[in-house]
Amino acid sequence: MPTARSEYKAAHKRVTSVKGPVSHKPCEFCGIFADDYAYNHQDPEEIYREGYLWSESTVYYFPACRRHHRAYDQAFRKYGKSALPAVAEALREAAREHYEERRAVVEAAADASWRARENALAARRTVPTVADPVASKAAQELMQRAYSRGPSRISPEELRASWVRWSGDR
Ligand SMILES: [Zn+2]
Repeated sequence: MPTARSEYKAAHKRVTSVKGPVSHKPCEFCGIFADDYAYNHQDPEEIYREGYLWSESTVYYFPACRRHHRAYDQAFRKYGKSALPAVAEALREAAREHYEERRAVVEAAADASWRARENALAARRTVPTVADPVASKAAQELMQRAYSRGPSRISPEELRASWVRWSGDR
């Protein structure tokens, strides 16, 4: 018989494969990105063995951020299963109060990471954004010649050299 620990872990893995990566889901209570799938303690056929408690069915799991997962599990240990629906409602209500504040934080964080990425890209951009007009004209003429006498008559070296001059890709 497999250990309770390995069955518990397999059950959680199954939830991820059915519902998708939890990091892409909003927390059930507050809407920020979730950290875990939490068991809601409502499965009538839940399994409790060797200190592990879990459900074999994926429908009894929901995405939660670390803070709310902890709060939910604490409420279960303190007040029991029957109190959980009311606890969930209270958590949702409390989160709603701070919604605007949290949204501003998430937006500021997203904006900062966007800016950091743009700056990093700009710093790495060595290719001139405006092509050198002389080189560009030469490339254009070469293209015209290529088309007038057929592309196979232009050597790959010639094309490559022209492209390098034109794009500044050295
Ligand atoms: Zn949350």
